[in-house]
Amino acid sequence: MRAYDLIVVGGGLVGGAIAWGAARLGAAVALLDEGDVAFRAARGNFGLVWVQSKGAGNPAYAHWSRRSAELWPGLAAGLGGSVGLRQNGGFMFCLSEEELAARGEMVARMHNESGGIGTRMLDRAEVRAMVPAVGERVVGAAYCPADGHANPLLLLRELQAGLVGLGGDYWPGRTVDGISYDGGFSVSCGAERFVGKKIVIAAGLGSRRLAGLVGLSMPVSPLKGQILVTERVRPFLDYATHITRQTEEGGVMMGDSLEDVGFDVSSTHKVMSGIAARNLAVFPLLRDVNVVRTWAALRVMSPDGAPIYEESATCPGAYSATCHSGVTLAGVHALELAPGILRGVLPAGVAAFGSGRFAEGVRDVQAF
Ligand SMILES: Cc1cc2nc3c(=O)[nH]c(=O)nc-3n(C[C@H](O)[C@H](O)[C@H](O)COP(=O)(O)OP(=O)(O)OC[C@H]3O[C@@H](n4cnc5c(N)ncnc54)[C@H](O)[C@@H]3O)c2cc1C
Repeated sequence: MRAYDLIVVGGGLVGGAIAWGAARLGAAVALLDEGDVAFRAARGNFGLVWVQSKGAGNPAYAHWSRRSAELWPGLAAGLGGSVGLRQNGGFMFCLSEEELAARGEMVARMHNESGGIGTRMLDRAEVRAMVPAVGERVVGAAYCPADGHANPLLLLRELQAGLVGLGGDYWPGRTVDGISYDGGFSVSCGAERFVGKKIVIAAGLGSRRLAGLVGLSMPVSPLKGQILVTERVRPFLDYATHITRQTEEGGVMMGDSLEDVGFDVSSTHKVMSGIAARNLAVFPLLRDVNVVRTWAALRVMSPDGAPIYEESATCPGAYSATCHSGVTLAGVHALELAPGILRGVLPAGVAAFGSGRFAEGVRDVQAF
């Protein structure tokens, strides 16, 4: 049996960032992770630090995302090795006047709701001046200087390695199957037991079941995304975009699909050709470039797409933490949420993210 200040269940990007952020403040932290057998969004994602369209209709989410983007350079500097952060801004390209008008309306609406997060509309000439590789069909774009991208696998590795470097314990291959509460928390993984003063449930799609064990509600569901990766090509894109990003190594990642198909992780020709066609319309130079890898992975989605964070009313010291933008929000998770959990006072900005906002959440709590 091992005793800790904080046990984090789930070693994906959300759990990893919270565990690292807590260990950095001197807490004794255990990060328990089921491993490769689980569905893991952290290993299949696109790598955007994306602010410009996060939180339309939800100013708290817009500000939380923006805050995280501001903290990202500090997070990247605080981790031991490079995570490939490039934060020159991000584009959402429009291929028709209708798309441009609709995007402009959304940017204006978000500006009015949230007091502005810095996104502005650019015409074709302005886009061409910044991204000469765009094709004739691009009529304009939304551009946000806070956007960027990073290598999500390096981020995951550095969070886990950083935790260990700070004296924390990373326990892979541990499936949490029971949690009991008697003022502190006792966590079982088969025959092993871990004891903690506090606990965070950050187990991605596994959270729905575990949350009920400590009086929390995390009504998350899978939402599939497919991604294509090309061979390496000469640098042509310095910025993040919502459908394309060129990695440090030169490969081009493409993808923005959303499919509500349960736990199916198959890649499909129909969706992949749609992703490729949109990318070709934006960047004709990709026409003769070979796709070398494809995959599908499952996002961890709450009913309204915004994060869920709260402390349990019945088991104080137990916290939920989940979102579908674990790269973007790594900055706030590590540098604001983790300190708040240790203090026992969550940051003011997260008060809007309790599960009480979901009708389904109430049913979930009653089901356990
Ligand atoms: C296709 C796709 C594209 C994406 N693109 C982006 C993007 O560009 N930018 C961005 O910010 N986000 C993106 N995301 C989302 C991002 O990947 C997720 O927000 C993030 O990975 C969620 O992290 P998580 O830690 O909550 O979940 P996961 O990464 O799924 O990790 C959960 C962990 O919990 C563990 N676990 C589960 N059950 C148990 C248990 N009982 N005991 C112990 N451990 C358990 C699993 O082993 C797993 O490692 C994308 C996701 C997908 C699928």
